[in-house]
Amino acid sequence: MGSVFVVLLVVTNMNDAVTPKCAPSTQVFENTLLALLSVYVGRSFPPITVEGTTMIQHHVNNHHMSIYFSPEYIIDGAFDTIGKAGELADLLTHDPVAGTRVVSPTPATRHDIVSVHDETYVDRVLNGHGGQFSSDDESATSVLATTGGVLRAVETVLENGGCAGSLSSGLHHAKYDHGSGFCTFNGLVIGARQALKLGARRVLILDLDAHCGGGTKELIGLLRDQDIDGIEQVDVSVSSFDQYHNAPFAQLKIVGASQYLSTIEQSLSDIADPQSIDLVIYNAGMDPHEKAGGVTGINTEVIRRREAMVFEWSKSHNLPIVWVLAGGYSGDSFTKRDVASLHRITIEEAARIYTDVTF
Ligand SMILES: [Zn+2]
Repeated sequence: MGSVFVVLLVVTNMNDAVTPKCAPSTQVFENTLLALLSVYVGRSFPPITVEGTTMIQHHVNNHHMSIYFSPEYIIDGAFDTIGKAGELADLLTHDPVAGTRVVSPTPATRHDIVSVHDETYVDRVLNGHGGQFSSDDESATSVLATTGGVLRAVETVLENGGCAGSLSSGLHHAKYDHGSGFCTFNGLVIGARQALKLGARRVLILDLDAHCGGGTKELIGLLRDQDIDGIEQVDVSVSSFDQYHNAPFAQLKIVGASQYLSTIEQSLSDIADPQSIDLVIYNAGMDPHEKAGGVTGINTEVIRRREAMVFEWSKSHNLPIVWVLAGGYSGDSFTKRDVASLHRITIEEAARIYTDVTF
């Protein structure tokens, strides 16, 4: 563990010294080191003891928030779900959010995916068939990269506390043996399952995408059938797509714009014993926004208040939290850059509330 700490310090210090205008060779060196670090941390991550109540240490001070992204996420010309990560990464490169750093994740493996999904389905996708975007190797590479981003973010916050994110989308509709609604593999449940493997006992998936997380609910239920408990979902949607029946472990509310923020606030305050949550995974969809696929009345100000509410709630209970992008779509009068700017609000509010950088 001592060596991991030393490597982290080296990377952090180097990162501080590097400006966005750094020479390409420096950037390559930095990316290589970060990739090596991810591999090292991923392979040497120790099992967390499940004895007592101090198995996961929550630290208050966090100097940086890691944002996982690699160009492998993107499929050129693909629908917004996959294309917009590049737009947002570009935005963050040219106008960084203070307190954040972009980190390239090691990809997920077949082993990670089959802990949640049907093996035959997984192999079909990994062999270039059955993904949601295109029937080729690029789709498999992308979905392993975006799922890897969620996994590495989960590992980071379980180890260090605080907040991390991944520019991943296309997760919550994915079912056990097929994709749905532009979602191929369910990175939310794969990330939560990984957290349980690492010793977490209670993981909350908070889904505020416009649409319902029916894939997530199905997969949590199937894990519970195998006596793998500990994952629960709170879901506030503005569309009935992928609707499901409520269960003790998955609570869905579908509301209009006028009840949107108050319902989220109530849903968060209804969560019993929040301090016993070991990890929050936040599906931070921007598609409730009136111009990004949502409903009239949910504007940019409402979205910013929503993000502040979520991160302030989790910070008030000192909970480690991982965010991902989820939905949010361009249209005739709303460009991909506009969508990326909306997702940037998640990053700004997370950094403001979770890092000790002064804004
Ligand atoms: Zn959606």
